[in-house]
Amino acid sequence: MVVSSYRIQGATGEWEVVIGLEVHAQITTQAKLFSGAATAFGAEPNTQVSLVDAAMPGMLPVPNAECIRQAVRTGLAIDAAINRWSRFDRKNYFYADLPQGYQISQLYHPLVGEGSLTIDADEKAGIPADKVIGIERIHVEQDAGKLMHDQHPTMSYVDLNRSGVALMEIVSRPDMRSPAEAGAYVRKLRAILRYVGSCDGNMEEGSMRADVNVSVRRPGEEFGTRTETKNVNSVRFVMQAIEHEARRQVDLIEDGGTVVQETRLFDPGTGTTRAMRSKEDAHDYRYFPDPDLLPLELDEAFIAECRASLPELPDAKRRRYEGELGLSAYNAGVLTAEVETAGWFEELLAASAAKAGKPEAELAKPAANWLLSELFGALNKTGTALADSPVTPAAGAELLALVAKGTISGSIAKQVLEKMLASGDGAEAIVEREGLMQTSDTSAIEAAVDQVLAANADKVAEFKAGKEALFGFFVGQTMKAMQGKGNPQLVNQVLRQKLG
Ligand code: ADP
Ligand code: MG
Repeated sequence: MVVSSYRIQGATGEWEVVIGLEVHAQITTQAKLFSGAATAFGAEPNTQVSLVDAAMPGMLPVPNAECIRQAVRTGLAIDAAINRWSRFDRKNYFYADLPQGYQISQLYHPLVGEGSLTIDADEKAGIPADKVIGIERIHVEQDAGKLMHDQHPTMSYVDLNRSGVALMEIVSRPDMRSPAEAGAYVRKLRAILRYVGSCDGNMEEGSMRADVNVSVRRPGEEFGTRTETKNVNSVRFVMQAIEHEARRQVDLIEDGGTVVQETRLFDPGTGTTRAMRSKEDAHDYRYFPDPDLLPLELDEAFIAECRASLPELPDAKRRRYEGELGLSAYNAGVLTAEVETAGWFEELLAASAAKAGKPEAELAKPAANWLLSELFGALNKTGTALADSPVTPAAGAELLALVAKGTISGSIAKQVLEKMLASGDGAEAIVEREGLMQTSDTSAIEAAVDQVLAANADKVAEFKAGKEALFGFFVGQTMKAMQGKGNPQLVNQVLRQKLG
């Protein structure tokens, strides 16, 4: 069995790293948490700012029900307790990107309570099977605006487009023990959010970012003091930040120093972290219930509707692909990692089954292999995403059906796919036009075999003398002579006969 055995080698012995992540995920909605302003990414600065977001006096926040719904659906997707009663609090602080002077968040009574997710096992990376990471809570809060320091030599600007955008803060337990586990957690969380549709998971655009809490300890001892590295925006950076920060803490302690609880910044250029401000806990945010907002009270019907609206989630889908469809663990993992891939595969499979009049389970393996090696291989060559594939699932199913029916061979199918990608034409049309149909005409196959055997008399002699491995050579030569169109089974049969 694989256990988390990641250790940092210090001068005085081994250290264990302890990691907890606070992930901020932007809720996918048209409007902000407490105003009707738009949330589209990439708009001109300050074009998506309502009077509420700019904190004009007298403006009142109105909760966006869709944001609450998405957060509840996310909570249900991580098997969390949904709190029927929750409340918004004001977190008071002064900063130029926060016109209200406070952030509306949830401290004392979050919308979503205790939940968990299972990270994917990875023997090479030392991630044990069925490792569960606890999730302490999900609360809903507003995002702040953005300061721009690079627009002018002596001035800073503020863009309030993000001000008031709805975020879920997803707080994990300190349950991760290696950079790889933290990476796997972020990947799994991102996959779940994208399946649920509550966050687009786009880390480059800042829709998802992580505050990375790291401490070190001697294996088996109490937790050490943690630091928190803010706003890390890729899986790779999360892993780098942990590696650097854990090493820094070990070196510091071994040199006789002590880790101070502080907020740090990650520098992607160097892969290092540096101090930003100390003693996060010493901040007095003067939290109090927001008097402009009533507590949120959810009824069972609302929660039931949220639950009913959930799609099949990655773990369940993966188990089904392995169990019902008979796919390998590896293929099931790759197909379910991204919601788009799983969707594409299921459309392909449904269309193939309809076309062939056969059950999906029978067609799943060839369909999975074709998608993962043939289509992905071809798309990779041109750097095309699956979503932009010129070949649709229905077009793929048409091609697979030709192979399944024995109209064309597997190797011809590769050529046909190239032509489909280049021309946009359908598989049947291409096969028809170019006469690529597989031939089961025995006399044609016999003629080709005779020709190959006659041209390779020396090899035939070697074969008859016991060099069995040459059989493949004869098959290859015959297929080549027939431009790949010979029915492979018949070619084999005829060769066996003629070679005795
Ligand atoms: P606070 O209330 O001070 O913000 P929390 O208990 O909410 O602290 O923890 C914040 C995050 O820090 C959580 O993700 C948690 O898992 C993580 N964390 C807490 N203690 C440690 C520790 N000793 N080492 C690493 N991470 C920790
Ligand atoms: Mg906290």
